[in-house]
Amino acid sequence: MGTGPLLLTTLEPLVVALREDGYRVVGPTVRDGTVGLDELESADELPYGWGVDVEPGGYRLRRRADGAAFAHAASPRSWKSYLHPPRRPLWTARRDEPGGPVAREPEEEASRLALLGVRACDLRAIAVLDRVLTVPGGRYARRREQIFVVAVNCTEPAATCFCAATGSGPAARAGFDLALTELTGPDGLRYLAEAGSERGAGLLARLPGTPAGEAARTEARAAVTAAAGRMGRGLPEGDLRDLLVGARTAARWDDVGRRCLTCGNCTMVCPTCFCTSVEDSTDLTGGTARREERWDSCFDVDFSYLHGGPARASAPSRYRQWLSHKLGTWHDQFGESGCVGCGRCIVWCPAGIDITEEMHALAEEVHALAAEEVAS
Ligand code: SF4
Ligand code: SF4
Repeated sequence: MGTGPLLLTTLEPLVVALREDGYRVVGPTVRDGTVGLDELESADELPYGWGVDVEPGGYRLRRRADGAAFAHAASPRSWKSYLHPPRRPLWTARRDEPGGPVAREPEEEASRLALLGVRACDLRAIAVLDRVLTVPGGRYARRREQIFVVAVNCTEPAATCFCAATGSGPAARAGFDLALTELTGPDGLRYLAEAGSERGAGLLARLPGTPAGEAARTEARAAVTAAAGRMGRGLPEGDLRDLLVGARTAARWDDVGRRCLTCGNCTMVCPTCFCTSVEDSTDLTGGTARREERWDSCFDVDFSYLHGGPARASAPSRYRQWLSHKLGTWHDQFGESGCVGCGRCIVWCPAGIDITEEMHALAEEVHALAAEEVAS
């Protein structure tokens, strides 16, 4: 990687270069009252001058005076939608095929995709999906090979972010081809661009920037360090897996279960939740059968259906399952936490349930019970 960091004054050449290389560029843009993700034809479609105010169960756009493009919270739609689509056909079969029905896999659309503006929490989430979903030669692996990642070091955490507590951010450390740090200030918007791979270095070498001096690098590091210090949320100290084992019979599960609507929003917006179901259907004539994979949620009562009924029939049991897996048993399965601290589940929960608040409440209850046991 011969190209050193560059200072860019515009992102348009980056978008143009990616499109010239055959990538569809997907990045943040203002859509339907949110900063969502969509295909971009020009860097002008980035959400320059938009920030957001978020809280448990609340999201609102607001204007920013500094014109920044990446100073907004994690979008409601995560990059998961592009790597692991919400719905995908597995096969179709026609009754009138000569020789009888044959299940045929759909043709895959060959598509190079550039993800522009991936925050550190979401880089970690992509690494989680890679670990879980990659089968050599499989569809996920083939799709993943076509993806170019432009990360953005986070300089503006939202009120619901806690990536510093999960060790995911706010600095992008690995898993990207290029990383940008957005610098605002009297000199206007500038972007420190650094390569993270050979192909990233190749692309960086084609961009019209100036070599970034020590002053720009120091400014970028300071902005990211300050972001870590501004995160207002965190998780309890200590081993969360042990804490959740100890909290198995906690009264807090009933408390949160009374508030939880079991709508599954938290699992849909979570960038690491990967569960799917398979659905079979036929057309009205019965001439064509189709099998599809679609996202599923452990909050759905049928998710745990065994012979005779669901294993987790109540809201408290389903919330406990989700939280205990995400922050506890995920370690046993995959050697790390399933939560990257993006805060999406807090913002998009219609009941305003906050995973960090629930964890602190559980910790308090477990510690109080332990203290009572010692005293008795
Ligand atoms: S925690 Fe919130 S978002 Fe998740 S299922 Fe319950 S009500 Fe829905
Ligand atoms: S559990 Fe919530 S905060 Fe953690 S990664 Fe999922 S959506 Fe983000």
